[in-house]
Amino acid sequence: MRAKGSKLWASALADASPTPYWTDRPERPAPVPPLTSATTAQLAVIGGGYSGLWTALLAKERDPSADVVLLESGVCGHAASGRNGGFCSASLTHGLANGVDRFPDEITELERLGRENLDQIEDTLGRYAIDCDFERTGELEVATSAYQLDWLHESAELTRSMGYRAEVFDRDQVRAQVDSPTYLGGWWDRDRVAMVDPAKLAWGLRQACLSLGVRIYEGTPVLGLSSGRDGLTLRTPHGEVRAAKVALATSAFGPLLRKLKRYLIPVYDYALMTEPLSPAQLGDLGWANRQGLGDSANQFHYYRLTADNRILFGGYDAIYHFGNRIAPTLEQREATFDRLAEHFFTTFPQLEGLRFTHSWGGVIDTCTRFCAFFGTAFGGRLAYAAGYTGLGVGATRFGAQVMLDHLSGAATARTELDFVRSKPWPLPPEPLRSLGIQLTRWSLARADEHQGRRNLWLRTLDHAGLGFDS
Ligand SMILES: Cc1cc2nc3c(=O)[nH]c(=O)nc-3n(C[C@H](O)[C@H](O)[C@H](O)COP(=O)(O)OP(=O)(O)OC[C@H]3O[C@@H](n4cnc5c(N)ncnc54)[C@H](O)[C@@H]3O)c2cc1C
Repeated sequence: MRAKGSKLWASALADASPTPYWTDRPERPAPVPPLTSATTAQLAVIGGGYSGLWTALLAKERDPSADVVLLESGVCGHAASGRNGGFCSASLTHGLANGVDRFPDEITELERLGRENLDQIEDTLGRYAIDCDFERTGELEVATSAYQLDWLHESAELTRSMGYRAEVFDRDQVRAQVDSPTYLGGWWDRDRVAMVDPAKLAWGLRQACLSLGVRIYEGTPVLGLSSGRDGLTLRTPHGEVRAAKVALATSAFGPLLRKLKRYLIPVYDYALMTEPLSPAQLGDLGWANRQGLGDSANQFHYYRLTADNRILFGGYDAIYHFGNRIAPTLEQREATFDRLAEHFFTTFPQLEGLRFTHSWGGVIDTCTRFCAFFGTAFGGRLAYAAGYTGLGVGATRFGAQVMLDHLSGAATARTELDFVRSKPWPLPPEPLRSLGIQLTRWSLARADEHQGRRNLWLRTLDHAGLGFDS
């Protein structure tokens, strides 16, 4: 709770609970007990976010007799997977533009694989009766400054060139979709994005894993890894796990593999949730097609409706803390919540008086290529996938397949991709790491204020293949 302020957005935030809306609901499952004695497994999965849950589920689908253990330090889905925006995208590369820049020779195949991945997510939800309010509404990207209109046309054109539907809207047409006075144009990516309830997705995957016989231990942090004759030993507070194979799905959290530290950058992303809109308030906005929305600046907002017609409004600030710091206290950031609330009412002034019920943050695992990277360690007995940045809801399923391919030792169409074989550029250690990240953030904010013009630093990063493109 915070003190009431004089500003419109300060009073709208006054009663916001400092917890993620999605996991703050009675449907939350009771935790399963931690590991309390030594055990063995054919496959041990570390981490119970989407990445780990998909890996365990797919491992059982590949071989129903496999003995699979999943170890989660908190409860499954408590981290990014249970607190995100719920944009489930077909893109494996954090957007088509980023994919075209980095993997021009493979982008057509990566798009095909991404679309197949999204279709298979939808199939899986049906197969296990996972009710996570999956709505294949697509995403509406809007321009809020004139210079963004060209980008918007380019994005739509690029999307069409991949065989997808992309509808471009002028100012009046986009406002007929969703009415904000800030919109100057937009385009609707109809095929490649679904909206999900993120926590219900994580809980549903967890339940599906349990139903297939995956042994899940929550409240069980893995404290260290060592290799022995028959596999790897995972140290936990109350018992060791000896496993023939290990999938490391720990995202941005203090990596158990030292070499990942060079690549991973934990960044905090924040979101607000409103109370449910009345039919009249929703009527004022339109939004009949219920698309996810994103604006086109470097520092962009993402927002969407929930099943009960609340609005989740997030993004803009992306905060890095010196030394890759991650801590629960960093999940609250008043300056960011004030900024988001102010931007919300600028976007939708007709909603004056609406209140926010929840405000929260979470950590994402970015890297210098802004999309996942993959690899193995301990002679191929451990596989990892990380670096999804802000678009892992869908892509983690693809990453899970890659981890299982790697652990099987067989070359597959996936493991042969340059996307899978290559690594992002590593980052320097502190203090250079912080300086570089802060300079980049500052430069991106300036570009947004100056018609998208990129300064020398951003142009240098672009030239080196390190430029940010959302
Ligand atoms: C606010 C926010 C909004 C977002 N919005 C979107 C969006 O709209 N669309 C999208 O695609 N992506 C979005 N993302 C990103 C997306 O949520 C992530 O890419 C995705 O959830 C990553 O899944 P994961 O399993 O890799 O990581 P996580 O969900 O972070 O799971 C990792 C798990 O590993 C566990 N763990 C870590 N270390 C250990 C250990 N040593 N032992 C045992 N367990 C351990 C953690 O407790 C955690 O549960 C958003 C993220 C945030 C924070």
